[in-house]
Amino acid sequence: MTTSVDEEKKVIEAIPGAFEIENDHPYLVGTKCSKCGAAFFPPRYICTYCLTDEGVQKARLGNKGTLYSYTVINVASKEFNPPYAFGFVILEPEKIRIPTVLTGFDLKEELKSGTQMEMVIEKLRNDEQGNEIVSYKFRPVA
Ligand SMILES: [Zn+2]
Repeated sequence: MTTSVDEEKKVIEAIPGAFEIENDHPYLVGTKCSKCGAAFFPPRYICTYCLTDEGVQKARLGNKGTLYSYTVINVASKEFNPPYAFGFVILEPEKIRIPTVLTGFDLKEELKSGTQMEMVIEKLRNDEQGNEIVSYKFRPVA
């Protein structure tokens, strides 16, 4: 029996619990207020609209949205591989603004605000041990 180094590498979520996958579709996981319906991502356990912590529970959120704004990062810490796009997507149907890496398009192109976007799970970087760090990202809907 041989064990290659590759078999010891792990896939690690950059933000543990930030997403779930069902039937090959990833969904963000945040919280929702059962009183007013407000959604939060990253999860927040006090509703900033009702100012209550009662009935604010973990909830599956959407995986589609529209592009709000973005920028291209040209200088990054050494683990990352610039240039890459980072911005905000307005998640549907929750209508909340999600910070996200953007993928699936040529950085020389200009994406318009309002572009339809969908969530994917992709490698973000490798850590020092060679493990693959993955995260949700959003890409333009083909
Ligand atoms: Zn509320």
